[in-house]
Amino acid sequence: MKLVPLNCNACGAPLRVAESARFATCSHCHAQLAIHHEGGAVFTEVLARIAARTESIESEIQALRAELDLERLDKSWEKNRREILGSSGETTEPHWIVAMGCVAFCLGILLFLHGLFAPRGQIAPGLILIGMSVVFVLYGLGRVAYFEEAQRLYTSTRQRILGRGKRQPEMAREERSA
Ligand SMILES: [Zn+2]
Repeated sequence: MKLVPLNCNACGAPLRVAESARFATCSHCHAQLAIHHEGGAVFTEVLARIAARTESIESEIQALRAELDLERLDKSWEKNRREILGSSGETTEPHWIVAMGCVAFCLGILLFLHGLFAPRGQIAPGLILIGMSVVFVLYGLGRVAYFEEAQRLYTSTRQRILGRGKRQPEMAREERSA
């Protein structure tokens, strides 16, 4: 068995390992070493460092993926928002529908009372306006609720993606410094 002279990558101590060996343990500092053959050169690398590097690459990929997911989420939310809120994209729009419905409801009551007490008055227009305003208010309230639900879902999904992108590197750093 042919032995190759090497140096430990952790402490620098000289080592002799079999030519075919892929891994070795330093007899001086007990570091776990990987043995690399590149071209004519043979050298060692501390396995813990390889693990740390792999981990940091993985966490970088994780962060990058989270970034892409965020971008996609934001884009689809913007589209969704416009669909719910109308072309103006104003968050107050569904609330305005409710407010206008309430005003119409009050006018309907007045019209109804006028029809009831005025000589030769008719109550039908007042009743129609009251009925329409109720439908309007319910529709507005439905849109407000729908928008708030969609917004809640968007916010929680966003938080989850942000947490995913951030937690990974922090964990890796803690493990490395431990
Ligand atoms: Zn060593």
